[in-house]
Amino acid sequence: MHFLSDALENYINSSTEDEPKILQELTRETHLKVVRPRMITGHYQGRVLSLLSKLIRPVNILEIGTYTGYSALCLAEGLTMGGELHTIDINEELSSIQRKYFDKSNFGHQIIQHCGDALKIIPSLDMQFDIVFIDAEKKEYPKYYEAVINKMRKGGVILSDNVLWSGKVVAPLDPKDKATKILLEYNKMLKEDPRIETVLLPVRDGLTVSLVR
Ligand code: SAH
Ligand code: CA
Repeated sequence: MHFLSDALENYINSSTEDEPKILQELTRETHLKVVRPRMITGHYQGRVLSLLSKLIRPVNILEIGTYTGYSALCLAEGLTMGGELHTIDINEELSSIQRKYFDKSNFGHQIIQHCGDALKIIPSLDMQFDIVFIDAEKKEYPKYYEAVINKMRKGGVILSDNVLWSGKVVAPLDPKDKATKILLEYNKMLKEDPRIETVLLPVRDGLTVSLVR
């Protein structure tokens, strides 16, 4: 879903840092070989994630929902020396393409893959996070949030992706549409939670930035 005209999107992209070669290659391979390539982070949102990460200078990043590794590689660009990015995906068929591109990048040794259900894996990660990127099963967003909020460093940032859900958050709600219902509750919860300060950015499909107080 495009919220902006093609002309504006093209103009915004051309006024933004170029997409690194390795990410262009990963996008091409994802479209050729993997189902549902629509899920991949694109050029513009990828540069937003990269820049946010460089501003935060994270030691530890957690990503929930790796897919083919595009957003992980963007977030890893901001890691401090010796920092780590932990990324979780339930689909084990994706792990070889992820590893291939992680190892082609400069961050291979800093990226740790976890295969399984995020809600089972998060409690086993004994560390504090500077950035968490929530981008797996939309119906589980409130549970991911509860699982990570007490693992955040003060001043850390939780990023939640696809929170506009192709605009469904403002369309009449279909009672059978559980994902939209939960995303509506989730967005409200982020706004009202006194532990964080939240801004929903209209980046691509909606990217919420929540600063942990
Ligand atoms: N962050 C990626 C896109 C993620 S797409 C990018 O921007 O390129 C969502 C991913 O979440 C899919 O790969 C899917 O396999 C994974 N996923 C779905 N349910 C999950 C769960 N319960 N635990 C971990 N990963 C899950
Ligand atoms: Ca996403």
